[in-house]
Amino acid sequence: MLAFRVMTSLYSVRMHARSEGEHLCGAERLLSGDGLEQACLDLVRRALQHERGQADQVRVSIDRINPDAIVRVELPTLETWLCDQVEQGRRLALASLVEAGVPNHVAATAMEQLVSGPAPGGGVMRGAMLVDVSSGERLEPDPARGVRVSRMDLDPAVGDDLRRRLKTLGLDNAHVREALVLAAKVLAAPGMVAELCWSDDPGYTAGYVAAPPFGYRRFPHLKQVGDPLGGRVFFVDRSRTGLDALIQFLERTPVLAGGPVRLLGARQIREG
Ligand code: AMP
Repeated sequence: MLAFRVMTSLYSVRMHARSEGEHLCGAERLLSGDGLEQACLDLVRRALQHERGQADQVRVSIDRINPDAIVRVELPTLETWLCDQVEQGRRLALASLVEAGVPNHVAATAMEQLVSGPAPGGGVMRGAMLVDVSSGERLEPDPARGVRVSRMDLDPAVGDDLRRRLKTLGLDNAHVREALVLAAKVLAAPGMVAELCWSDDPGYTAGYVAAPPFGYRRFPHLKQVGDPLGGRVFFVDRSRTGLDALIQFLERTPVLAGGPVRLLGARQIREG
């Protein structure tokens, strides 16, 4: 009965908050009417209590979704590669991007852009950078906004299982759950080679590289505590997709990410 109701009335909820004219935070959900009010409340609370600053503007948009349009994708396998320091974390992330098929210099340049702030003035973007994996060229139509992945959520059928199993790894937090869902959608996008992410929350230092060959590879330290910069980069093979089709999928196609839930333990990586 619940599954039936979920499929007959789903809503996309998008929250975006700004502070002093800049992106502060955002979030997206895709859920049934039953959870709609509570989700809006949670998202508004998140915006008003954000550690990066005080919101001057909070916008919540709700759109009803045609259930026939929903695409189901699998959650990527999650694995943590342990690192002691930011430098090691970034070296491992760079090596992972290269393993996924991103040329070393393209991956290194994109990483430098995240370090210095990917928006034109050096701040954070609301969405992600889109980078041509062959040339390193930035492709997002609006480099201040980037491409915002939207209209996705966890399939409610796997929610409890995912949370229980993340908890055993000490990873049951909103950062990890939401990033796993986002990465699931990104990896299902046409022409996607890899994603690189670290948060712009000053207190959250972990980040990840996601790619079809290995899934979601998490690194505990990709930036220093207190650093307010972060972002996302999507590396795209343009010979496999048109830009419009890719952006349409990322921003508009409704996606539910579901099982099987595949979580691996943390690994100590020996370099060299
Ligand atoms: P967060 O992990 O929420 O701290 O986000 C880190 C960075 O990723 C943000 O500064 C944005 O640039 C980017 N980002 C966050 N959410 C999305 C999204 N839904 N789609 C694309 N990029 C995002």
